[in-house]
Amino acid sequence: MSKAVLTIDDIASANTPAIVDYLCEKRIPVILFAVGENVEKHYQEALYALRKGMVIGNHSYSHPEFSSLSLREGIAEIEKNEALLDTLYADAGVPRLCRPFRFPYGDKGGANKEALQAYLKERGFDKVDDSGIKGAWYEAQNQYGDVDTLWTFDFGEWQIRKGAAFTAEDVLRRMHEAHPGYGEALFEEKSSHILLLHAHDETEAEVPGYYRIFLEEAMAGGVEFEAPRFLRL
Ligand SMILES: [Zn+2]
Repeated sequence: MSKAVLTIDDIASANTPAIVDYLCEKRIPVILFAVGENVEKHYQEALYALRKGMVIGNHSYSHPEFSSLSLREGIAEIEKNEALLDTLYADAGVPRLCRPFRFPYGDKGGANKEALQAYLKERGFDKVDDSGIKGAWYEAQNQYGDVDTLWTFDFGEWQIRKGAAFTAEDVLRRMHEAHPGYGEALFEEKSSHILLLHAHDETEAEVPGYYRIFLEEAMAGGVEFEAPRFLRL
């Protein structure tokens, strides 16, 4: 048995309500990380997620590489999405109880890394409790002191695209690899994880219900999904 917090990135999308319904049916807790531009395109789908009790965190407004931005531009990306998410929560009639943040591509901002972390702390973003996580890659990021939410295992299903060689079978194979490049293997006894999946209509078009396939494989292998606990640094 291993434990995992599930995160799903790049919300919202046309397939967001179907993903939300599935998670509710299976009682799988999740953090949905929203890109502002996608929320604007799929506002009703994002509202649906909140009204079903999902937590939506900030994943920037336009999904840039933060290391290519100035500090001011980076903060503007976060603030613009933060204002949009405040409006979304208000429109849904749901109180916003926690504010997790994830950098696009896990790019922490290069030269601005420390300043961005200080900003996230001051701004009151919530850190996902990662004290049970081990693994060389995760430790090398010095992630334990950082506020943003990283991951320990990326399903990699975003690579499933029309004409691409990468398939659902490749995802299933990676799930069973001993060391997929991040740290502890997904099914290693007593390991703890933050899992990364995406809400992409392009993946849905190639493999309908892809999230079911991979989450059911995870649960069949002994992964127990747990609700995230938050730390305020
Ligand atoms: Zn993303």
